[in-house]
Amino acid sequence: MAKYELLKQDGRAKRGVFHTVHGDIQTPVFMNVGTVAAIKGAVSTTDLKDIKCQVELSNTYHLHVRTGDKLIKEVGGLHKFMVWDRPILTDSGGFQVFSLAKLRKIHEEGVYFNSHIDGHKIFMGPEESMQIQSNLGSTIAMAFDECPPALADRRYVANSVARTTRWLERCKNKMTELNSLEDTVNKDQLLFGINQGAIFDDIRIDHAKRISELDLDGYAVGGLAVGESHEQMYHVLDVTVPHLPLEKPTYLMGVGTPANILEGVERGVDFFDCVYPSRNGRHGHVYTNQGKINLFNKKYEKDMRPIEEGCGCPACRTYSRAYIRHLLKAKEMLGMRLCVLHNLYFYNTMMEEIRDAIDDGRFKSYKDDKIYNMGQINREKEKNNG
Ligand SMILES: [Zn+2]
Repeated sequence: MAKYELLKQDGRAKRGVFHTVHGDIQTPVFMNVGTVAAIKGAVSTTDLKDIKCQVELSNTYHLHVRTGDKLIKEVGGLHKFMVWDRPILTDSGGFQVFSLAKLRKIHEEGVYFNSHIDGHKIFMGPEESMQIQSNLGSTIAMAFDECPPALADRRYVANSVARTTRWLERCKNKMTELNSLEDTVNKDQLLFGINQGAIFDDIRIDHAKRISELDLDGYAVGGLAVGESHEQMYHVLDVTVPHLPLEKPTYLMGVGTPANILEGVERGVDFFDCVYPSRNGRHGHVYTNQGKINLFNKKYEKDMRPIEEGCGCPACRTYSRAYIRHLLKAKEMLGMRLCVLHNLYFYNTMMEEIRDAIDDGRFKSYKDDKIYNMGQINREKEKNNG
């Protein structure tokens, strides 16, 4: 059976189901980001089921430098360690190596860098990244790639992308080898390749065609949301996604706002991940269908309504804006936790609505209404200021 089944298309928006050894993923899907195998904000894996999370995302680099993937393999892999039986996607570590690590040197074999925690020297190349992800035993592993700086020139990007392609071939070979070993945690581990090319259309397209030939389990569009405009990001998707296989899932890495996600779905993206809902939640910024509100605002001091009327999340089922505001002001961990739970529930519920809309062939009108409604609070603010 095909791992990815394309159930329906509505324009270019795709509705699918991805079958994995850890269960089915209904797409489009938002993956909830648990950097060090936990969602920041004291969110447990029991909570994740309560807020409709389908896929948890963990960061390879962070788990490698702290606690260590070898230890996690010894205790039975990441699923057993964090007590989560649904799919997990691990990133390759590449993005963190290029964004967090100090004093990095890129060579054909991989990258030499110093740990951002204690400065000790680490080497990571395609084989090392695959080995770490295999030790973690995630459902989906990401290929090791270079995410070139947003303002890199054409020559730099072309060289970098060519190397990323060579690295991808090495990742594929290494994973085949690892999946065949006796003591491998997840012998059915899947591999997604990553398209790069910054904002150069022809490099993006050539690379998409090239990696599509490798017949991987899925394809990501990487190197976006790193400083380019939203219009440039949508343009890259417009030109690139049509050159990735329709019968495989497409993943837009690290994106984004609810509007970014809706625009991505419209352009054929299946998988998303972003730290916005959890990061915003930790700062008391919560999403509603009328837009984002800041619970620190004095006007919520006596507001006994839930964050959003009718929301089924653990925060809204029980607590008021006034109480959550009080907790946030008092720096009680519960305040942050309730906001993160609400925000992730909001994103996961939006994805459910998106899937229903595609099923019914009304994605375009759903998207337009959602974006218009979520702009209401900003429009009111502008009116009052004007
Ligand atoms: Zn809620």
